[in-house]
Formats: sequence, structure tokens, C-alpha cells
Amino acid sequence: MKEFDTIIIGGGLSGSSTALNLSKKGYSVLIIEKEALGNIKPCAGGMASSMKKFLPLNIDQAIESKIRNVEFRWESSDDVVADLTGESPFWIIRREKLDKLLLDEALKYGSKILRPVQVEKIISQNKNWIIKCSNKATYKSKFLIIADGSQSKWADYFKLGPRKPKFANTIALRLKGLGNIPKDSVRFEFGFVKYGFAWAFPLKDSVNIGLGTFINNKLLEDEALNNKVIRSFGFEDLSFNVVHKKLRIWNGAHKLNGDRVIAVGDAASLCDPFLAEGIRPSLISSYYAAESIDQCLSSKKNDLNNYSTTMNNEWGRSMAWGKRIAQIFYRFPKTGYQLGVKRKTAPKRIAQILSGQMSYEDIAKRVIKRLITKNEG
Ligand SMILES: Cc1cc2nc3c(=O)[nH]c(=O)nc-3n(C[C@H](O)[C@H](O)[C@H](O)COP(=O)(O)OP(=O)(O)OC[C@H]3O[C@@H](n4cnc5c(N)ncnc54)[C@H](O)[C@@H]3O)c2cc1C
Repeated sequence: MKEFDTIIIGGGLSGSSTALNLSKKGYSVLIIEKEALGNIKPCAGGMASSMKKFLPLNIDQAIESKIRNVEFRWESSDDVVADLTGESPFWIIRREKLDKLLLDEALKYGSKILRPVQVEKIISQNKNWIIKCSNKATYKSKFLIIADGSQSKWADYFKLGPRKPKFANTIALRLKGLGNIPKDSVRFEFGFVKYGFAWAFPLKDSVNIGLGTFINNKLLEDEALNNKVIRSFGFEDLSFNVVHKKLRIWNGAHKLNGDRVIAVGDAASLCDPFLAEGIRPSLISSYYAAESIDQCLSSKKNDLNNYSTTMNNEWGRSMAWGKRIAQIFYRFPKTGYQLGVKRKTAPKRIAQILSGQMSYEDIAKRVIKRLITKNEG
């Protein structure tokens, strides 16, 4: 039976970046991925450049646009433009390239990958994991990483993350050309999609378009409405294929580790419940998961508990406010747009959130302070 320090279930963004972080530290890693090569992820690729510090490699090849402006619209009008100049920039990366760069680098550092292979059974035996797979082989490891994404089967099995996961419904498509989206701007379109919004993020020669709905799990099956949104981004040819995806979003602070097991990325329900940002928490969780396992393997710690604490402090506290903001904003979107987007200081704040310089918690505290001062005055 082949033995590894860590086995990772899922070879997407979180799985590959955890593998790279661990193999760079000299540990042996096996990734078990259920899909064959070339499975394209529905992802618009928006990412704060400040995430460089959590990336264990140079990703310049995957960056397709550097964003200077964020445009907001209410039903194709009432424009607000947030200038990102001077802030840490926001990048649009080609997701399939980023995933490939991370995986190739992890393999270069000695990680192994099995694909397409399913994990059939996991047994805990003498402080090791015994993993039985669909290729009839059995593998052994000291630690286990659950990185199997939004439809995670294993996070539930190990009781990691919320007992009742919450999902955003999304549809994604990529269209050739840029429509009416400037090459250095992203656009958020509110008002058309109930309990959510639509977005258009430009790559070099195409646009990633998405629609997402964040509360009440409303479906996005209104083709006429979807076409109207896509036309609003300047596209007339509506003969495209869409990918539907249920995205597991943050739903409270929960334990994300067990005894010798950790959940990362979407499997850990880390996606922003307001804007669907999932790349940032995937990279942050992969980084801290590798740190925690390193501390155990080098006998500095006896358990992985500091992983859950760190993720909650670094990400969960902001998401708790993101969830509250989403619940109010998407229930009263027109008021939300007027108060949250059209305020004089709003563009700067939004730019700071997107660039990772401010959290929802910082924003909420400012608003509360302003309300208290107003009432006292
Ligand atoms: C439409 C859309 C647009 C988005 N746009 C953005 C954006 O612009 N910016 C941003 O920050 N985030 C965005 N996100 C979120 C982001 O894409 C996710 O948070 C990110 O993909 C999470 O990576 P992951 O590795 O955790 O999961 P995934 O990328 O889903 O990878 C999981 C991997 O596990 C594999 N797997 C699943 N089950 C098993 C199993 N049983 N055994 C073995 N392998 C398994 C899958 O095949 C897959 O390769 C978007 C999401 C959607 C749906």
C-alpha cells in the first residue's frame, strides 16, 4: 500500500494549491480527482491582487485583465463607477490556466495525482487514513484534506462546516468578444436578477458572464430574463451554452477540521455570501491548512484546531457581516442600491473590498459608528 503524508480529495483550485504549499515544504502528497483532465470550471476569475501573498508561485500567465474601474448599474442605467486606481489592483484570471499552473507546479515539487478516480471508502486505523479508491487501489496517509468543492460529499461525512449548507444558484457562460464591457472594467448589474445580480468580467478576447441568486435559492430558469441581462452587456448572438452551478456559500462559523482532517475552499463553505468570491478564501484556506499540517508533522502542535480558529478570524468574521449585508441588500435591492452603491463614499469602499484592503466587518463598524454619532448628535 502506497503511503503519503497527506491525501487530498479534489484537484481543483483549493486541492492543487494545498498540494503545492505542502510539497514545497517537502511533504509527500497524493491528489485524488474524480474528473478527467480539462474539466472547465464555471468561474468569472475576479481576484484581488493582494492574494499574491497566499500564492506559492508566479501566476502572471493566468492574468488576462487588470481592472481599473468597477461599473455598477441598476437595470442598465443609473451608473456608478468606482475607480480602482491607487488601490491594490483587481485581476481577472483565466481559471483553467490558474488551476493548471498550480497543479503543474505541485507535480513538479513531487505531488502525485490520480484521475479520474473516486474515493469509495475512508477508514481511520492507528492514527492513519486508509483510502479505498475506484481504481481498486488502497492508499494510506497521516492527514486528509477535503477539497471536493461545492457538492462536497466528504465535508458532510466528517461533519466539517455547516450542518445545513447554504447554496447560491448560479449560471455561467463565456462569450467571444467584449460586448460593451471596457477591457479594464468589470460590471455588476443589479435589478434584473431577483435576490442577486449579474456580472461581466473581461478576459483578453472574451467575457465571463454570470448570474447569481443568493437567498431563497431562487432558480435562474427565466431564459427571456437571462437573455435581457446578456444583451445589456452588449451581446446580440444568444446561441450560447450555459453552465448551472450550486455554489456553497458561507453560513456561520463552524469547525473546519477534525482529528487529522481539514476542509478547504468551497467544501468548507467559505464563499462570500454577498458577492460569491471564492478564489480568495480557497487560497487563504489552502495556505493555512498546509501551515497547520506542517506544525503537526514537525511536532510543534498536536492537533489541527488552530486552522479553524485562524480561518474564522481571517475570513469568517468578515463573512458574518457579508451574510447580514446580503440578507438586507437582496431583500430590498433598490434601497440597497441607493444607500449602498450610490452614496458618495461607496465607490471607494467597494474598491477596497474588491482589492482585499477592507473587510465587510470594517465597513459595518464604520456604518454603526456613523449611526451612533448621528443619533447622539
Ligand atoms: C459562476 C461562478 C462564478 C464565480 N466567479 C468567481 C470570481 O469571479 N471570483 C472568485 O473569487 N470566485 C468566483 N467563484 C467561486 C470560485 O469559482 C470557487 O470558490 C472555487 O472554484 C473553489 O475552488 P475549489 O477548489 O474549492 O472547488 P472546485 O474548483 O469546484 O474544485 C473541486 C474539485 O474537486 C473535484 N471533486 C468533486 N468531488 C470529488 C470527489 N468525490 N472525489 C474526488 N474529486 C472530487 C472536482 O472535480 C473539482 O475538480 C465563482 C463561482 C461560480 C459558480
